[in-house]
Amino acid sequence: MREIVHVQAGQCGNQIGSKFWEVISGEHGINPNGTYEGNSPTQLDRINVYYNEATGSRYVPRAVLVDLEPGTMDSVKASTYGKLFRPDNFVYGQNGAGNNWAKGHYTEGAELIDNVLDVVRREAESCDCLQGFQITHSLGGGTGSGLGTLLISKIREEYPDRMMGTYSVVPSPKVSDTVVEPYNCTLSVHQLVENADEVFCIDNEALYDICLRTLKLSSPSYSDLNQLVSAVMSGITCSLRFPGQLNADLRKLATNLIPFPRLHFFMIGFAPLSAPGSQQYRSASVSELTQQMFDAKNMMAACDPRHGRYLTAAAYFRGNMSTQDIDDQMFHIQNKNSSYFVEWIPNNIKSSLCDIPPLGMKKSATFVGNSTSIQELFQRVGEQFTAMFRRKAFLHWYTGEGMDEMEFSEAESNMNDLVSEYQQYQEATAEDDFDIELEEETF
Ligand code: GDP
Repeated sequence: MREIVHVQAGQCGNQIGSKFWEVISGEHGINPNGTYEGNSPTQLDRINVYYNEATGSRYVPRAVLVDLEPGTMDSVKASTYGKLFRPDNFVYGQNGAGNNWAKGHYTEGAELIDNVLDVVRREAESCDCLQGFQITHSLGGGTGSGLGTLLISKIREEYPDRMMGTYSVVPSPKVSDTVVEPYNCTLSVHQLVENADEVFCIDNEALYDICLRTLKLSSPSYSDLNQLVSAVMSGITCSLRFPGQLNADLRKLATNLIPFPRLHFFMIGFAPLSAPGSQQYRSASVSELTQQMFDAKNMMAACDPRHGRYLTAAAYFRGNMSTQDIDDQMFHIQNKNSSYFVEWIPNNIKSSLCDIPPLGMKKSATFVGNSTSIQELFQRVGEQFTAMFRRKAFLHWYTGEGMDEMEFSEAESNMNDLVSEYQQYQEATAEDDFDIELEEETF
């Protein structure tokens, strides 16, 4: 069995993480007490990827819940699925991080890190053959962002050959009014470039726009945003949780999707998306799902894929449909839009089918793309960062926790470099590439 250890950190991390467990427990027939009451053996085939089996055939999430204040975790414990989690896997402090990355990464967080690592280690050691870790967190706050990335680097140090995947929520001023979020986010991206293997970017700006424009919700709440997050997390992990799928583990997914090690920030999308109420009147066809899935409006990063090119992509269909139909539709869409896929990686889009649909739906499709247009997200955050950093605004909150200004400059240039690298591969053609190789040879 290839187990995954899940970690959720901070308010956002715990909120989207708990929702994830609620949704996948539903899909695997696990009730809030941890007992199986499903109806298909497929639900249990790979249950060990995410759950430990405890005595009395109870299934317990292999999850570690972390925060620097008790509030959010108290709500998780009190929720319907709160009893599912192992009580001693809740690790928390009392002081909070006050939206300050430095507190999460260097001061308050550093005090809690050993306790967290003890629990992570206990979970990892009880695995038969650990494939890696996944973490849910926001990049804009202090805990999920600062402590979250500290944890990622410590885990990488201890388990260098295991995979590290993150579901990282990118801040947007449309959703949150904390001004220092671009600082926290940039400092985190700096860490994620170096220490994460695969990052699923969940951009609050895009979630907000989807809620407003597509779902017609006039003032979206976190719970509305998180509904989208859990749909897409369920879609992405479907191939890890059910048998016989494309990209069946974190490493295979990375191998197929990451042509260059630093370019591991994925754009994700979901279909169908429709306003509540209109849903029951239409059953999406494979063709509609494919169209929607590639549509900029369905992307959970506020980037337009038509401004860039896809290096690679994967599409996961779920429900009752034919593989032939999927292949035809995927072929059709790539043919029609061939200029949006780099020609120097042949067959760079893969698709797969899982016959178990998400709960309450007949069919769905989830998209994971490595698109050079993701640079738009980093540019947006980068501009907000630079505007403040140029005047050193709010810097004293960070230097007050012992941070050096240098780390800010390094984070800024690392993210700028990342943008340039995406741009470089966006412009590269098959011929350019050949030239570069020749030059290197003569050199
Ligand atoms: P932390 O507890 O210190 O890690 O801080 P938060 O997780 O509250 O980080 C603040 C950022 O997370 C802001 O950008 C918020 O908009 C975002 N955020 C907080 N809670 C949620 C949530 O439940 N869902 C989503 N999508 N974003 C959230």
